[in-house]
Amino acid sequence: MTQGVERSPSTGLLAVHAHPDDETLSTGALLATWAAAGLPTTVVTCTRGERGEVIGRRLAHLAGDPAALAAHRVTELAAALAALGVGDHVMLDEVAGDGPWVDSGMIWQSVGRAALGADVPEGAFALVDVDTAAERLARVVRERRPAVLVTYEPDGGYGHPDHVQAHRVAMRAVELAGEGAEGWAVPCVLWAALDADVLEAGRAACGADLAPGLRTAVGKPQPSAAVPGGAVDVRVDVLPVAEQVVGALGAHTTQVQAVRRLPGSDGVALGCYALSDAVVQPILAAEAYRVAPGSAVEGEWWPAGVRVR
Ligand SMILES: [Zn+2]
Repeated sequence: MTQGVERSPSTGLLAVHAHPDDETLSTGALLATWAAAGLPTTVVTCTRGERGEVIGRRLAHLAGDPAALAAHRVTELAAALAALGVGDHVMLDEVAGDGPWVDSGMIWQSVGRAALGADVPEGAFALVDVDTAAERLARVVRERRPAVLVTYEPDGGYGHPDHVQAHRVAMRAVELAGEGAEGWAVPCVLWAALDADVLEAGRAACGADLAPGLRTAVGKPQPSAAVPGGAVDVRVDVLPVAEQVVGALGAHTTQVQAVRRLPGSDGVALGCYALSDAVVQPILAAEAYRVAPGSAVEGEWWPAGVRVR
């Protein structure tokens, strides 16, 4: 027998996201922690985010030009993945099959709550048949054989139709990937979450001395991803990978603005940023995750910095 430890293929992390920027905003520290541990780390992106808003004058010409914005956001995504240390990326509609799939767009139904608008483009990811998309994703899952698959909770974090669809597709893909002799039963499925109390404290930490044009999130409704602290199953320390996360946020130039670190490292928030709505959000000191029903967190694949309760 040969000596030494052979790395099992079941040590990988696979994240399923709707648009470029979600990998960083929802799961940046988990991805960076996994990659820094030298473990296989894959991001699957379902659309190129071509219906997103555009921050800043320099790239304002991309707004309303879906093809140009898609081409640009793919470069932002590549830079963000490089910052996070993620070397394996898959555009879901490039896995053989029909396509392309595009950003469905959204409207604000209420404060902090997104919904599908009336003007839905052809090929909108939110309207793609779930099994069709899940079959493709299942192929990626069978190839990578991840120990952990992470995606959004059933409401997509805040109701965005593409995020809700990514959740459905990911959960169905886990079922499909487990079928047959060549199947791969993913040991653990995580849903990105926010600790509601910590989120509000983080909003307050980012709410003072706002630059002109920025608004505080204090007291605003919380997104569907927010749950009581007792419902959080897994926490990821952000401080050890804060440089990677801040670098990745900064790479999404058209989507993220006003990225800054807060002085000190013992607070509830390590930094702040805002999206196109100019509402300042915290970079919390810990990312939070729930374990999907039927999944387990017991195992030896958690790298340092990931705390399982
Ligand atoms: Zn998104």
